[in-house]
Amino acid sequence: MSPPLIIRPFQTPARGVAQVPGSKSITNRALILAALADGVTSFTGALFSRDTRLLITALQSLGFVVEADEVAGTIRLIGLGGRIPHNRAKIHVGNAGTAARFLTAFLALSPAGVYELDGDEAMRARPMGGLLDALTASGCRALKPDGSPATGFPFTLHTTGKLGRLEVDAAASSQLLSALLMVLPLSPGSSVRLKGATVSEPFVEMTARLCGQFGRPLERATDGSWICVSPGAYVAQATYAIEPDATAASYFIALPAVTGGRASVRLEGYAAGGLQGDTAFAKVAAACGAVLKPSAGTLIAESWPVVRGGDFDFNAFSDTFLTLATIAVLADGPVKIRGIAHTRQQETDRVLAMATELERLGIKVEPTAAQLRADASLSSLTIFPSKAALRRTAAVGPISIHTYEDHRFAMSFAILGSYDLFGDGRPWIAIEDPDCTAKTFPHFFQALEALRTNFVRVSIDGGAASGKSSTSRRLAQLHGLLHVDTGAHYRSLTHALLQAGASLDDVGTIKSTLSKLRIGSLLIASQGARSSALTLAGAPMADTDLRTPEVNAAVSKVAALPAVRTFLLEYQRSQVKLASDQGFAGVVMEGRDIGSVVLPDAEVRIFLEAEVEARSRRRAEEGQSDQVTQRDHLDTTRKTAPLICPSGAYRLDNTHKSLADVVAEIGEIIKVAALPR
Ligand code: C5P
Repeated sequence: MSPPLIIRPFQTPARGVAQVPGSKSITNRALILAALADGVTSFTGALFSRDTRLLITALQSLGFVVEADEVAGTIRLIGLGGRIPHNRAKIHVGNAGTAARFLTAFLALSPAGVYELDGDEAMRARPMGGLLDALTASGCRALKPDGSPATGFPFTLHTTGKLGRLEVDAAASSQLLSALLMVLPLSPGSSVRLKGATVSEPFVEMTARLCGQFGRPLERATDGSWICVSPGAYVAQATYAIEPDATAASYFIALPAVTGGRASVRLEGYAAGGLQGDTAFAKVAAACGAVLKPSAGTLIAESWPVVRGGDFDFNAFSDTFLTLATIAVLADGPVKIRGIAHTRQQETDRVLAMATELERLGIKVEPTAAQLRADASLSSLTIFPSKAALRRTAAVGPISIHTYEDHRFAMSFAILGSYDLFGDGRPWIAIEDPDCTAKTFPHFFQALEALRTNFVRVSIDGGAASGKSSTSRRLAQLHGLLHVDTGAHYRSLTHALLQAGASLDDVGTIKSTLSKLRIGSLLIASQGARSSALTLAGAPMADTDLRTPEVNAAVSKVAALPAVRTFLLEYQRSQVKLASDQGFAGVVMEGRDIGSVVLPDAEVRIFLEAEVEARSRRRAEEGQSDQVTQRDHLDTTRKTAPLICPSGAYRLDNTHKSLADVVAEIGEIIKVAALPR
């Protein structure tokens, strides 16, 4: 067991991009569907945990090309339209239920395969029988090492490639059904009928919706069986963004309730109406006072003016009840949580354990822990808030919260512990065995710490091809900043002026052309970072249009015009407010005059340099014809806002340094600047 972790209350508002991992359920389903699609699918936001790594390795051992970049959270997979390259393989599924079930059904599509499958000791005890029975009835054979029929791991699967009319008993796990649903479209004329009922309906729903997203919607026939009316290979997705885990996201929706001030936490890719039932937590949170602003597929969670009491049914999204139960102690009235009977048989008896820990904090609950212990049928919990009681109990020092090997206790009480109960930053909650969060969220405490930050503005100036863009994007990604490339602003205007046929020597025409432009901003994903792109008449310009030889040749001349610089200055400064409104931890703006003119009071100012040969080589490697020295000459000698090293800026020559080293060096400066004071 890991030693207890004392939670340091937030004394400044939480701010930044919540680093919520991708959903495991979606990652492993989407990998299977992409492998069965025709062509290349690229994923962003994928979860990398033991369970997803096992599935990736298994697909690779079957001959699939799967390229994963764990740092960037991306996976590129070449689907083969239902073909499995190797018809013989040995596969170990660890204790990954999804990998175990999904792969078994997947392998059944191989026309004459012989696959040896095994799992961890724990996996050998988990239900597989319903799935193996269904496949056996369709002509597959699953045999134990001694040759007798298998009902669980280990087994050798002899496959025929045909499914037919399947019947599955999925009473023990909905994954047994989901596994068959995903392969159904690949075997025309097949159907899957559920014998009896299954648990966790929302996950079956998730599977069916994912099949639809990959181009093969499933339907229910009149007899209730699942069918695919237009069978065939799945359709590869050029980019598929895996939703962040909705249960994990609930902690960051709750955090602004306890940190107060002008908190603003950005949850990228989190949207109600997504594939995960637990996004319903957002509705309950809003009813309790959360201020949630959806913005283009992202949710921004701001400070809650108050935590409101009330009566809530968590039956359909019960994993999130603990998130509300803990912050309920700060509410303005009692909070009743209903519909959570089934959570009494989960990782632990969650209702009893929650009542026990709240009582240890001095909070009154109904039923009491003693009553819950005596009566297993009790299915709700009412929490009576009292800050005074908390202060009395914690007066002696931090209360140590038992976590019952249940990751959700560690995470939800850590959010509560972030509340500055005594108003002086004194810790009052410690979490026992904090490493138990590894189950779904290994970096939870780092993600929490990352939001304890001051808004920080970073300027990156330097000559052409000095590495500004790659450095800025990586910094943005790592520190939750909004990336702004001001070079692209000048390039956009240059492109527009060239298109309009404006003569660059005629200030009058330039001014009138500029006055007609409608400029705005759009947040886009660029190489793992969020960037703000300048839009003209609502649309951002394609990168290829911004980097043509004509634009390269004219841009420094355009940028030297005072009318152009004045036109862009306020726009560029407005990007700081945009970053703040959108919940970013700050902004990283790159250009030639950012630290000197646009944001002279930026907390971090960097001047990047590199020897000219290195810079020309970089551009050539990018396949661009660009006279870097010529542009630098124009940029440094112009009258308005010339390229200079801003006074007090940190000079960094990266000629002989790797990008990772440069980013780490600047990262240290950013961390210090962003420390709450
Ligand atoms: O950074 P990039 O090479 O895309 O910038 C293109 C040109 O835009 C620069 O050569 C410079 O003339 C101009 N620029 C500027 N001030 C900035 C950013 C770019 O003058 N802040």
